[in-house]
Amino acid sequence: MATILDVTLPNGKSYKQPVGLFINNEFVKSQDGKTFGVENPSTEKQIVSVYEAGEADVDLAVDAAEAAFEKWGFGDSTVRGRLLNDLADKLEEHSETLASIESSNNGKPLSLARIDVQLSADCIRNYGGWANKIYGDVVDSGEGYFNYIRREPIGVCGQVIPWNFPLLMMAWKIGPALAAGNTIVLKTAESTPLSALYAANLVKEVGFPPGVLNIVSGYGKTGQYISSHMRIKKIAFTGSTATGRHVMRSAAASNLKKVTLELGGKSPNIVFDDCDVDKAVEFANMGIYFNSGEVCCAGSRIYVQESIYETFLEKLKARAEKNVLGDPFDENTFQGPQTSRLQLDRILSYIDDGIKGGARVITGGKRVDREGYFVHPTIFADVTEDMKIVKEEIFGPVVTITKFNTVDEVIKLANDTDYGLAAGVHTTNINKAIHVANRIRAGTIWVNTYNDFHHNIPFGGFNQSGIGRELGKEGISEAYTQSKSVRIKLDI
Ligand code: NAD
Ligand code: MN
Repeated sequence: MATILDVTLPNGKSYKQPVGLFINNEFVKSQDGKTFGVENPSTEKQIVSVYEAGEADVDLAVDAAEAAFEKWGFGDSTVRGRLLNDLADKLEEHSETLASIESSNNGKPLSLARIDVQLSADCIRNYGGWANKIYGDVVDSGEGYFNYIRREPIGVCGQVIPWNFPLLMMAWKIGPALAAGNTIVLKTAESTPLSALYAANLVKEVGFPPGVLNIVSGYGKTGQYISSHMRIKKIAFTGSTATGRHVMRSAAASNLKKVTLELGGKSPNIVFDDCDVDKAVEFANMGIYFNSGEVCCAGSRIYVQESIYETFLEKLKARAEKNVLGDPFDENTFQGPQTSRLQLDRILSYIDDGIKGGARVITGGKRVDREGYFVHPTIFADVTEDMKIVKEEIFGPVVTITKFNTVDEVIKLANDTDYGLAAGVHTTNINKAIHVANRIRAGTIWVNTYNDFHHNIPFGGFNQSGIGRELGKEGISEAYTQSKSVRIKLDI
């Protein structure tokens, strides 16, 4: 099999899809020739096969990244910034193809995939601006000494990303790492490798030096080679909490590489009776059903204050039933399929568990009767806090609704979780909003909005939702540089 193939998209357009491993700016076959199939979750048909990286391939990618590091990491930072800006421009230029690839491989609606491409370009451009604005410090540490503190890149970074926002997660990872002068071996998720490989071609086209960014396709085993690699100095991972635990363990067992993790969530979305109800319904709907519910910070536990509970439930049911499900290439579609059969099965088993446990299905509760991995937007009421559907991350279009009375009660309910990624608070009372925002143990609190990101605002988890932050200053300074203190004794 060649390493670049002609592929026809569902909209009939053809393009060149790289399927090789991207090492040293070339698309290459895996050493053992192994490949795996990638499918379109709307049709359940294979799109193409890609080469799978084994241990020897990861080694080659690390060799390339290591060889590129000195020059890249300690060279002219303005060059790094300019290349990132050029890449952002290229992503925009190829936006329609990239969005179509994403849509066909992940299943998300084309209209939303276009936004992902724009956000990816914005993120990379933003970090392009940081590249030559990473400052050290000069600290007065006593007469007779000159002390300065440098911020240096970490070295070769391993990055392992999920399948829910394939291109955007790549942008969040490579933007800050490259700006700070690191080199990279990135592994895409097994179900969605295509957009990153297409973007790799643009990385080469704008002139990034060979070896600076290497991209490999593969399953968890390939990720394991990365997280346990002795010459990789840092691992950044986004995915499930269970896998995050494995990643941290293999980092510890190998070379104690630095670890940042962006993991799961079970985020509360709290609706007070003094909110603008119709707006809160919109944000509750978008909070859980956006991207088919495949969002780490999805507002999957809705808490509604007693006096508006019945009204809210009725309105959310009506709103959820209006969401247009269907072909991601149809411009009217809001919700496409789940990304894989595995995810579909996981979600259906949670729904089953909820029904068996006595929760009441307000709407949905089943697979859509058509080809593709579609699930009806689902609302469960009459849940108890110990149910699996309230405790565990479902990662699908399934939400639970619970009634509450007082502010203290809902803060307690919201915080009764192993996670702590995000939360929503809907109220027109600014005092209540700030009080509740400050008391919830989560990395992001959205007030009168939801799933509302900005590339300069840090994002990450409390508790078992992760370690470290992405985006903003923290996302580059804390995550991708390390400080070096140089203490000079003066001869005076
Ligand atoms: P996962 O965490 O297993 O996979 C995420 C990435 O990690 C993929 O690239 C995968 O190949 C890789 N990986 C898997 N095992 C690995 C290992 N041992 N070492 C290193 N890398 C490894 O997630 P999944 O199995 O695809 O989905 C399971 C659940 O995870 C979902 O149902 C959802 O709840 C959660 N999830 C969360 C996010 C998020 O954004 N936080 C993203 C995807 C999945
Ligand atoms: Mn897994």
